[in-house]
Formats: sequence, structure tokens, C-alpha cells
Amino acid sequence: MTEVASDTKYVYDFSEGSRDMRDLLGGKGANVAEMTRILGAERVPAGFTITTEACVAYMKAGQKEPEGLDREVAEALGRLEEHTGKRLGDSGDPLLVSVRSGARESMPGMLDTVLNLGLNDESVEGLASKTGNERFAWDSYRRFVQMFGNVCRGVPGDQIEDAIKAQKKEAGVKDDTELSVDDLKALTGRFKDIYQDKTGEEFPQDPQEQLSQAIRAVFDSWTGPRAVEYRRINRIPDEWGTAVNVQQMVFGNKGDSSCSGVAFSRDEVTGEPEPSGDFLINAQGEDVVSGVRTPKDISEMRDVMPEAHGELMKILRELESHYKDMQDTEFTVEEGRLYMLQTRDAKRPAQAAVRFAVDAVDEGLLTKEEAITTIDAGSLDALLHPTFAHDAQYECLAKGVAASPGAAKGEIVFTADDAVAAKDQGRDVILVRPFTEADDVAGFFAAKGVLTSEGGKASHAALVARGMGRPAVAGASDLEIDLSAKTVSVNGTTLKEGDLIAIDGSIGVVTQDDVELVEPDINENFERVLEWSDEIRRLGVRTNADTPEDAKRARAYGAEGIGLCRTEHMFMAQDRQPKMREMIMAESEEDRRKALAELLPHQQEDFEGLFEEMAGLPVTIRLLDPPLHEFLPGVEEVAQDVERARIERTEDLEELERTLDRVHHLAETNPMLGTRGVRLGILHPEIYEMQVEAIVRAARTVGERTGKPPKIEIMIPLVAYERELALMREMVESVCAQEGDESLELTVGTMIELPRACFVADRIAEVADFFSFGTNDLTQTALGFSRDDVEGSFLPRYIETKVVDRSPFETIDQPGVGWLVRLAAWVGREAKPDLQLGICGEHGGDPESIAFFALAGLDYVSCSPFRVPIARVAAAQAAIDS
Ligand code: ADP
Ligand code: MG
Ligand code: MG
Repeated sequence: MTEVASDTKYVYDFSEGSRDMRDLLGGKGANVAEMTRILGAERVPAGFTITTEACVAYMKAGQKEPEGLDREVAEALGRLEEHTGKRLGDSGDPLLVSVRSGARESMPGMLDTVLNLGLNDESVEGLASKTGNERFAWDSYRRFVQMFGNVCRGVPGDQIEDAIKAQKKEAGVKDDTELSVDDLKALTGRFKDIYQDKTGEEFPQDPQEQLSQAIRAVFDSWTGPRAVEYRRINRIPDEWGTAVNVQQMVFGNKGDSSCSGVAFSRDEVTGEPEPSGDFLINAQGEDVVSGVRTPKDISEMRDVMPEAHGELMKILRELESHYKDMQDTEFTVEEGRLYMLQTRDAKRPAQAAVRFAVDAVDEGLLTKEEAITTIDAGSLDALLHPTFAHDAQYECLAKGVAASPGAAKGEIVFTADDAVAAKDQGRDVILVRPFTEADDVAGFFAAKGVLTSEGGKASHAALVARGMGRPAVAGASDLEIDLSAKTVSVNGTTLKEGDLIAIDGSIGVVTQDDVELVEPDINENFERVLEWSDEIRRLGVRTNADTPEDAKRARAYGAEGIGLCRTEHMFMAQDRQPKMREMIMAESEEDRRKALAELLPHQQEDFEGLFEEMAGLPVTIRLLDPPLHEFLPGVEEVAQDVERARIERTEDLEELERTLDRVHHLAETNPMLGTRGVRLGILHPEIYEMQVEAIVRAARTVGERTGKPPKIEIMIPLVAYERELALMREMVESVCAQEGDESLELTVGTMIELPRACFVADRIAEVADFFSFGTNDLTQTALGFSRDDVEGSFLPRYIETKVVDRSPFETIDQPGVGWLVRLAAWVGREAKPDLQLGICGEHGGDPESIAFFALAGLDYVSCSPFRVPIARVAAAQAAIDS
């Protein structure tokens, strides 16, 4: 443990701080100091900040103030007293202060603040006579006793509320502003009694004692259960600590020319330029948020205190141009004079963020680059999918993982076939399954949304749903799905096939209510942000697309090519399955070739559709990747069929037995590490040959038809040894020679998804034109984490215990998996300087990962169509940051 040297400076006057000192002074302290500098000392009540380091030292010492802190606080208080000309606890004209918490990042409502500190039985009289406002003095005192008791000594809030209610009832009034001086005196008495009852002590009269207890309470609130839980959810480190701000009070509760409020520099929901906010006349700040009275809209302030309102509007603009971002402020007006108490960058939904960015550029407030950095790229998702109407009222039936954004509603179906049948009849359905498999993909297309009781963000259901832009909630583990009875039960409610259900995959919610959905569109503002992003970014953005529909959508969203076309989905379609099975069941190469020859025209047709949509852009096609048994029914299913055929002595018995044999033969203990990818290509070259033939023919056809042949990139999956790729390259070249097409632009490369491939990337690069990092499998193989399982098993605990901060399938594990990517990029380019580098895993749509890939020197990222706009913005941000 390191001792903090005793000459550490623990206290800074507001006049000494600035926005750059956020880590030390906390966000609130740093910004109050900054406002003091830019708006002038008359606008911001004076005070000082006790640093986060003091809090850390306090925690480390087992809740004990570090040496020297007392002295520094006393000195700072002395300076404040001199500056204000008042003394804390003075019985004639007391200085009153607020004691405000403030961490590095804002933690709304989590830490504690005490107002009006310095009042006691004597100074309250002084305040009354000095101000000539007895009511105000007693209102301040009762608030202080109330807050001090609650914050510093844990007096329960409901006891306080009860006391207020009782007092109002006795006085026969509704609003606490209507309480008379005597009522307030009585109320203060009640609070003191509760305090004594709860703590066994009298309410402290010594202001120095009040101050040190309040400072301590703020430090302690950092380790309180509320704050600990908030930090866990928001991934804020426990070690940061909070700062404490001690600030001269200004009073919004001095009558009708005083008020307290919160103001956003623009509308915080829509982003429209008119400031928004709430205020309350004759009130202190806590009342505005606590809901004791209903605040008024900030626009009404113009009528009641026009001058202060005008100043506030001017200051909001000033703060915006200084901070170069939309601001969220707190203020108080005391007898017509405006004081600013807090400012911070405003949290806002995506639509407001986009609107602000565009307006700020038009107004000359920000450059395009600055404007783009104010947007949280990840949140843009919300603009591309329908969602529950934001004021929708509904009862939550179950919660799960927010696996694929957007909302959907429809009738429950339990199988992909039922989903397809329902779609053909024009019905909207939600596919509900314990989990999904390759076979279910057709059902995803047909359904409006997908709901599973198992799996997480990286489960098959989640990946496929995101790829298709289907909303999905995964891992709603309260659901008990009975596939044979076709029912789903949850907490005593049983739903059956055909019942209505709605899901919101942006928040992971399931409901039975007929919630209103609102449609998305890329509006003009968003379009402009995207155009600017394209001017700025250096990373290319492609899409992962398997169908012409996906390709079309992705192009509309700005994709510059296809970075990953998974060919297996083409074999899942209903009309292809029998042929595919025949091919797999074939006993001789000859039979297999016959089946393949029949699949070829279908495959070619699929490619033609894609190529046409991409109109001359690059298309990376991955040859068949999954293990063959995925295309056959499961062992149990076939075994049952065989059983039935035996009993009923049906004709297909022999055929079924053969299938069972084959399924047994192909079954593997670890299919993810089994006969798949290039291993299939080496074992059965005829499959890959057929695919290459189909590709070449499709390219030629589309070239002839449209004059825009695609730039083809043939990608071999799961390569570990350079020789694997060399063999496949020979195969591709010989097919091309046989097809006799010289003019075709065609390159051959590999997916880098095994650690060995990264280590020997230089050797592989010798035979590759490009690498595309398959970071899903690379994460899986580097960490030995099964991506379909970890999110539903140990990963949540890993996050809780801080082994990892988030799923490595969501954001790339930079030091580990990311290092493999950098290594492979580096040695690959050493061996072949013009090697093209891309990434096509899920990480290609994650802003934080995109920033990493930009740094690692990749040429492009490829992501699902719906994430293309996000990737464009994130890539621009990466270019701006570097
Ligand atoms: P939070 O972080 O919960 O917003 P703050 O420290 O900002 O807590 O305090 C809450 C409110 O208390 C402020 O918005 C303001 O209205 C009021 N307040 C804090 N300090 C002062 C002060 N010096 N004078 C007047 N009001 C204050
Ligand atoms: Mg505040
Ligand atoms: Mg893979």
C-alpha cells in the first residue's frame, strides 16, 4: 500500500481549478471551477473542493481523514469567510454552505449533498433578522435538519415525509410553501426529535462539527450500497473516490423572485435548439427533482423573471460554445440574481445527439469533426429499428439479454416451419425457442422477432438476429418453453401458440401487452452526419450479407462492399436441403459430384443476386464453413424415425438407417473444433470446386448483364497452416483456368480465426491476397470460450468479479485477442506489403473495437447491415482521435 505523502494538497479553491482537473476535483468541482473562470465570480457562488485523493486516502485508512486535511479545510474555510465577509455559525449574519459530492463521472442521485449547513438555533435567528425574512430562515433551517439527518445520519426518508405530511395536515395546507413561520418552527422541532430518536444524540449545534460530519458523510456515501451498485452496472472503478465541494449557499427559497431549476442548453429529447428544463419558484434545488411539487417548464420563467431568464439563455449558449457540447445545468435565482451551480455534457438519446451535431455545425458552433465526436456512435442503433413508443405503458412479463435491437410484436410460434407458414399467410409472428440452430434461420426471416430462454449476446439467435436486423431477446431464463405442448410459462402465466407477445430487443423486455411501436428512418440530419463521417474516416466499411435483401439494405446504409458472405445459409433454404442432404449422404465422390452439380445452378443464382446488388463493389465470399452434420437432422430425430419405420415396417426404413449411420459417422464431440472450414475443403475438394465454379459463372453473367462485374475475393475459412491455403489457392486457380475467364478480378485470401494463423501470418501471407479477421472464432479459440455458452454460464460472474469488464465477444479483448490481430497484421504485411486487411466478426460493428482496428492499421471493417451507419461514424471518430 502506498502512503500518500502528507504534503499532498487536498483542497483547492474554485478559483484554482479548471475543467482539466476532473480526475482530481470530480466532474462537478472541475466544472464549477471552470464556470467561475469563464462566467466570472459573481455568477458562481464561491467555495472549495476537497479532492478525490483525499477520499481515496480516507477509504484506505479505514474511514479516517488523512493528516493535514482538517487544517487545509480550516484554511480554505477562512478564505471563504474572508471573501464573503461572513462567518460560519455567526449568530448575527451566518455564512451558510452546501456540501456537495461529485465524482469523476456523474452518478446522478447516487452520492449525497447537504444544503444550508451552518444553521443552528442561534444563527437561524440571525439569518431571519439580517434578511428580514423569518419564513425563509426557518424554511432553510428545517431543510438543513432534514437533509443532515437523512444524509449524514441515515434518518429514513419516509419518516421525514410523514412529518412533513403531518405538519401540513395540522396547518390545513397542501403545499409546503404555504407553511407559516410557526409551522416551520414546529416542523424543525419534529425533525430534531426524529433525529434524536434515531441517533440517540441531539442535533449538532456546532457548525464546525456539522461540517466535518457532512464531509465524512459524502466520503462514506461513495462506499454506500446505492453507489456501489451503480458503479458495478456502469463500470465505474471503485478506486476513483468522490470529491467534496463546499460552496457558499445562494437561496432559491427567498420568495417569489427566487427559484431553483435545471436547464438543458437544447431540448434533451429531440435536440431542438430551444433550451428545455424545469424550475420551481421559492424552492431549493432538491425540490425540483424530488417531486414534492410539480415544477414548471423553463419557458414559463420568461414571464415571471424575464431578466434572469434572458441571462440564463445567454449563459447556456456561452457554456455550449465553451464546452463544445450540449450542456445540462443547475441554477438558482436569488431575488432576481442568477447563479450557476453546475454544468456537464448532456446525456441524450441518439436523435437529440444527431440533431445537435448538425445544428452545431450549421450555427458555426462546432466543426464537423468536433460535432461528430459529440455523438455516442453505439447509441445510433436506436435510430435504425422500431422501438416501443417511448411513453408506452406495459407490464413486463420477463427480462432477458438485449440481444438484437428493435421492437416487434406478433403471435407466438415455436418452430421455424410455423414461422414460415404464418408469414405466407401474412401473419406477424415472434419465434420463441429455448435456443436456435442453423436450421432455424428460415424462421428468422419469416418472424418479426426472436425470443429465446437460453444463450446471450453471442448466441446463435443473437448473431443471426442482429445480422438480419431482427429484434431479439435472448436468455429470458424465466421462460419455460414446452415445445411439444407448444406453450410457454412464466411466473404462473401460460401462453400458447398464437397468443400475442411483444419484445424490445434494445432493452431485453418481453410483454404480453399490445405496445405501440414507432418506426425508424434515417432522417436528413442523420444522413448529413453520415456524409461527414465518410469525408473524415480512413477505414472502409463493408457489410456481412448473405442475401440480396441484406446487400441492398447495407448499400442503402452506405456499405462499400461485402466483407463476409456466408455461403452456408444458401444451403439452408427449404428447396436446397434435400439436395444438400443427398450430397452429404453420397458414398462415392461420383455421387457427391452429381448432387453438387444439381446444387450449382442454385448457388450461382444466389451469387448473381448479390453481385447485382453490389454493382461492381468488392464481395468477399467465404466457402462452406460449418461441419456437414449441421445440414442433417439430429441423431435423436433420425433414431426416432428409424424406430417408427421399424414398427410400421415402412419402405423408407433402409434409407433412414443409412441416414442414421451417416449422422453417427459425422457426429463429433467438439464440432466447433472439428471437420469444418478448410478441413472440409481438403477432405472434399469437390464442394469448394462447385462453389468457385458458381462464383465465377455468376460473376461473368452479371458482368455481361450489367457491365459491372464484382471484385471477387474468395475466402477460405479456418486456416491454420499455410499449406492448407496453398492447396485451396491451387484449386481456385485451376477452376478459373477451366472456366477460361481471364478478365475476372478475383483474389484469394483467408479468414484469420485461429491463434496459430496469427503466429505464422507471414507464411500464410505468402499465399494470401488478403486476410479477414474472424474475431468471433478468434476470440473463441484464443480464450477457449464457447461463444454460444459463456454468456449464459460463467461470464456474468466474471464481469461481477471484475475478471473481465465486458463480454470479449462484444468488445475485442485488446491485450489478448487484439494482440493476435496486431501481430498478424504486422507480420503479414512484413511478408506482403500490399496485403489487404479487414475484420468481419461481430466486433466490426462495435465502436470501441473499431477504434482499435483503426489503430491496428486494418483497411476495413465489415459488420451487419444495421450496424453500417454506426461503423461509419465510429470510423470517423477513430480517424479524428488519432
Ligand atoms: P446532485 O449531484 O444530486 O445534483 P448537487 O450537489 O448538484 O447534487 O446539489 C443538488 C442541488 O442542490 C443543486 O442542483 C442546487 O439546486 C442545490 N445546491 C447545491 N449547492 C448549492 C448552493 N451553494 N446554493 C444553492 N443551492 C445549491
Ligand atoms: Mg447537481
Ligand atoms: Mg469462423
